Amino acid sequence: MGTNRHMSVDSRGRYTPEALGEVTPGSEGPAGSRSHNLLSTRRASLMQEPVLVLNATYEPINVTAVRRAMVLMLKGVAQAEEMHNAEVHSAAHAHKVPSVIRLLAYRHIPQQSRALSRKNILLRDRNTCQFCVRVFPSSELTLDHVMPRSRGGRSTWENLVACCYRCNNSKGDRTPEEAGLKLARKPRPFTLHTSRQLMRLIKHRDERWHKYLFY
Ligand SMILES: [Zn+2]
Repeated sequence: MGTNRHMSVDSRGRYTPEALGEVTPGSEGPAGSRSHNLLSTRRASLMQEPVLVLNATYEPINVTAVRRAMVLMLKGVAQAEEMHNAEVHSAAHAHKVPSVIRLLAYRHIPQQSRALSRKNILLRDRNTCQFCVRVFPSSELTLDHVMPRSRGGRSTWENLVACCYRCNNSKGDRTPEEAGLKLARKPRPFTLHTSRQLMRLIKHRDERWHKYLFY
């Protein structure tokens, strides 16, 4: 698979922007506001539309642009899983535009590349206190060690959850069971490799992405 080697991966195992030609989310307005643009401009912006990149295992690992996604498909590195309702035309052909592509060869994404941070924990838990199951602004949430640190609980994806101050206070130095609290769901490592990018995008992304992002 000689073509695969051209895709660069940085020291933390992530695709570099050069490798997948990443787009900056939010740099374009809603599609409607572009409707007055010239055809060539629309084609250019269509080529910059974000495409969800899945690993061979269907795990979402990146976001790239239509242009780069089509290059990966032409090289035989990836195949389309979902299509846009749009086409681009070359001299001889009309090409369907992908919305989701999947790499044909599995890429190892090291666990440590999924940065464990307060921001990512809140994203994973969708700003929902995992004990009272209410949604709060980030400023009103803290991170709770499910097994308290004072009792050997570690700062890991599996032991940290979003928690409101009230629940955090009432839990104190106890396990949820001891405090009579129940976790909304078992905390797991974040499977979205490029969480920030993806999360910013899915707010206004088409539904073709959803089944890959929420499961
Ligand atoms: Zn709470």
